Amino acid sequence: MYFGNEKFKITKIVAREILDCRFNPTIQVDVWAGDGIFGRADVPAGRSRGEKEAWEIRDGDKRVFGGLGVQQAIRNIHEVIAPALISMDVRDQRSIDLAMIKLDGTPNKQKLGGNAIIGVSMAVARAAACGCGLPLYRYLNANAHVLPVPLLNYINGGRLTSNDLDFQEICIFPVGAETFRESMIIGWDVYNALREILSSKYGKLAVNVGDEGGFAPPIVSVKEAMDNLVRAVEISGHSDKIVYGFDCAATHFYDKEKDMYKLEGEYRTRAELLGFYKDLVKSYPVASMEDPFAEDDIEGFAMAAKELGIQIVGDDFLCTNPKLIRERADYCNALLLKFNQVGTLSETLDAAESSYRHQFGIMVSERSGETEDPILADVTVGINAGQIKTGATRSERTAKYNRLLEIESELGEAAVYAGRHFRNPF
Ligand code: PEP
Ligand code: MG
Repeated sequence: MYFGNEKFKITKIVAREILDCRFNPTIQVDVWAGDGIFGRADVPAGRSRGEKEAWEIRDGDKRVFGGLGVQQAIRNIHEVIAPALISMDVRDQRSIDLAMIKLDGTPNKQKLGGNAIIGVSMAVARAAACGCGLPLYRYLNANAHVLPVPLLNYINGGRLTSNDLDFQEICIFPVGAETFRESMIIGWDVYNALREILSSKYGKLAVNVGDEGGFAPPIVSVKEAMDNLVRAVEISGHSDKIVYGFDCAATHFYDKEKDMYKLEGEYRTRAELLGFYKDLVKSYPVASMEDPFAEDDIEGFAMAAKELGIQIVGDDFLCTNPKLIRERADYCNALLLKFNQVGTLSETLDAAESSYRHQFGIMVSERSGETEDPILADVTVGINAGQIKTGATRSERTAKYNRLLEIESELGEAAVYAGRHFRNPF
């Protein structure tokens, strides 16, 4: 029997509490199999979370880590998940994920915790790759070869900073680079030109960074932020190689009671907000907008997908959930793929596959609370995604870029940088 090899059977699962980049506790999981097969994964955490995400169990005891501890989720791993998975074959990812989904038994993984389940799921994949003697991206896909265009998040706002910029992320896409390495070189040039511009215009505090390592200047107007970024791109001589992307994260400036969006201090109807976006798309080479309307605003998303003529990415709108992708496929045209939104690797791969079948682009994404674990780089190449969003500076972000640089050199001539084909690398 294929899954009968002793070498791949899970012998031990150990979880522990570690710290993420915000100094908040999170889970690290180790999976052991056979004789020395080992896989480890860390669980990231969002701050600007979608309502339909898999549930994150936090201890709630305010005396320890302000209630954010993950000891209960770890107990769930040791006492419920591990006993059920011992002796399963690490390569049988789907059965392992299904077993955890069944053990949990709730629609949003509330009983055992999405944070517990995704940690085990990812560590299992790492162990399987280790047992097969393959890097994870290759274990996931014999045809993995696409290096993604990075969405470099250089101006941070919204929930991820303390400034008053409503958009959460204003990013550059170095689509004109020839290789991933060149995209990093271009990124370096623009980042440093932007630093000069912001510090000379707004003072040295303007180059403090937000949760994802982009600058968090005291700017309210999206256009003002864009003008600075475009200037930095011009100064660095890369205008022909760069297009722009936003994570509007509009749920956070939507006023449910008024059914209006409060952007830059002004209440706007859906149509007015769309007008604001149209103006942006007309004024700058914008290629992508994530969550331009609130997470359940199907009417708004439908207008954006139909009228803006650019990539419309569903983050909170889709929550990496295959069922939501099917239901909402007519109202956007790209998926923001975050493993812990849905809670298992198998469901994450389902979401990717479903997206491809709907002719969607796929942007694999960090969470704002990351660790140094670069697993999302491997999964991005493993699904030939074409786009990755993993912030700007700080080691928990550059760890992913560093892993992509490593993968690119490992692939050698077989590596293809998605470039201008980021929405559809084939
Ligand atoms: C996002 O909204 O795209 C994001 C990365 O933030 P968070 O991880 O806080 O959801
Ligand atoms: Mg988002």
